[in-house]
Amino acid sequence: MANQVMPFNAPSPEPYISVVIPVFNEEDNLEELGRRLVLTLTAMERPFEIIFVDDGSADRSWEILTQLHRQHPQHIRALQFHRNFGQHQAIFAGFQAARGRVMVTLDADLQNPPEEIPRLVAKIEEGYDTVGGWRENRQDSFFRKFPSFLINQVMSRVTGVKLRDYGCMLRAYRREVVDSINQCHETSSFIPALANLFSRKVAEIPVGHAERERGQSKYSLIKLLRLNVDFMTGFSNFPIHMVGLMGLGIALLGVAFGAFLFLRRLLLGPEVEGVFTLFAILFVFLGLNTFALALVGEYVGRIYREVRGRPRFVIRQELGAGAGIRGQGPGGSSQ
Ligand code: UDP
Ligand code: MG
Repeated sequence: MANQVMPFNAPSPEPYISVVIPVFNEEDNLEELGRRLVLTLTAMERPFEIIFVDDGSADRSWEILTQLHRQHPQHIRALQFHRNFGQHQAIFAGFQAARGRVMVTLDADLQNPPEEIPRLVAKIEEGYDTVGGWRENRQDSFFRKFPSFLINQVMSRVTGVKLRDYGCMLRAYRREVVDSINQCHETSSFIPALANLFSRKVAEIPVGHAERERGQSKYSLIKLLRLNVDFMTGFSNFPIHMVGLMGLGIALLGVAFGAFLFLRRLLLGPEVEGVFTLFAILFVFLGLNTFALALVGEYVGRIYREVRGRPRFVIRQELGAGAGIRGQGPGGSSQ
């Protein structure tokens, strides 16, 4: 590679590939990940950069990233968030700092093998705007797979692009798609779906998937649920339409039931024990009402978050070619 003959700290050439990796307490994985990434990307013989975004880790992650940057100052950059802002915010920050023509995202836990990157890039070079990895043989528990199944269904409907695996973060994007993503300032978003909104040609290729060997998944069941509700309400009004339709259906059933009770009273006389039936029905209504209210609340909450316009993330420090990335609020500009 050309970098071997370059003087220490000389500006690296414009990278062709930028790899963006969110990191949250991954001290056990980073060294191996860095080593495998540098090997794979060097073999591709194209200028590249690797951008790690430390999402407020409390372990030695930042220390290890600093070491990696010292070992490969031309190729490894790192951003550190002030605290934990979430995986997708970390990718947003990485995208704003990235300079490559082709952007690749990857998890830090080695579940996505870095050795698959050349295949993703080759597919982009065939003329696709976005190339998603599809975990053919996914090594996760049922509790991880089932919500993913639901998300895939909803996202395929909403974005009009049917993909098998929206959740796989091993993906590649053409620069223009990432430029469009960088112009979106919504406070919470889901990058694979957002990318599809800006891509004309989307491909999906099977990629390997390993079990997480070190460290734990950063998503508890509650955090996962929160994320999924966020995705669904963030990308469509479908849930609220469903509740509206349900309300209408139930109201009609209520009218039919009223008519039935009225006729019954005329034909058979007044019904006394029916009181408990009414209770049952009342509870159904009450439950649905509360549910609908919560759903409306979710949308109102989203609007409130957007209106406040707080920065999406705050960066504490940066190592490597500084692109001057700062916390992004809606309407803010990165350049
Ligand atoms: N991650 C992050 N911030 C978070 C949670 C996760 O940056 O708040 C990173 C994490 O370090 C990993 C990736 O996002 O690189 C995916 O997380 P994880 O492997 O825990 O998710 P799973 O594979 O269980 O879906
Ligand atoms: Mg993982």
